[in-house]
Amino acid sequence: MRQPLIAGNWKMNGTRASAESLIQGVLKGSSGIAKTDIAVCVPFVFLELGQRMLSGSPVRLGAQNVCTEASGAYTGETSAGMLNEFGCRYVICGHSERREYYGETDAIVAKKLTMVASAGMTPILCVGETLEQREQGFMETVIASQIDAIIGANGIESFGQIEIAYEPVWAIGTGKTATPEQAQDVHAFIRARIAEHDAAIAEKVRVLYGGSMKPSNAAELLAMADIDGGLIGGASLVAEDFLAICQAG
Ligand code: PGA
Repeated sequence: MRQPLIAGNWKMNGTRASAESLIQGVLKGSSGIAKTDIAVCVPFVFLELGQRMLSGSPVRLGAQNVCTEASGAYTGETSAGMLNEFGCRYVICGHSERREYYGETDAIVAKKLTMVASAGMTPILCVGETLEQREQGFMETVIASQIDAIIGANGIESFGQIEIAYEPVWAIGTGKTATPEQAQDVHAFIRARIAEHDAAIAEKVRVLYGGSMKPSNAAELLAMADIDGGLIGGASLVAEDFLAICQAG
């Protein structure tokens, strides 16, 4: 039985004051939710606030990106060691926005996963196809190549310490959600791809769904056999909505 994980991806949103009240709201509402792991992946500048406010609580802290290198002359970057020191448990790697706007390739994503895992944190590896790729019938090819690239670079064992998020690009921030059946098909496909290499790891790895997940559709998505949680963008910015999704897990 895989315990669900609901992780908020705040992206580049909020002020110090709004971050504080959002964390407060999540903390307050999360106490009664025992069967779901909960995390908030906040902008770097709010990590210290998150670390301070979440310490001693079951709500985990995460970051949204990391550098491929450990330290040195990489202006503007943040290392896995730094994130670890600020209490991060999770780091989102290879989000489609990073792949699209910042040129992150599978090779870069693979390096980031290695940095995160070797600092003792858990990467959340994002994969997903665009609408064009889906309509042209390439969905499975795209997902398979994103997964295979990581297996090739880091080994199948690396999936023993990873969360996967399937995020169809066409569903992110668009209000269009994959149907539970559409999502389940891809989640099962991802698990089967991993099982070709290691059945035990495939059984254990959590595959989260992301893309316009909200209180009104969370329960039906999370009821699917291979959907083990959610990576929540827009709806994670409102404490009640985020908590309602956590409840549905
Ligand atoms: P969304 O974003 O929930 O706003 O669609 C999800 C994500 O990009 O992680």
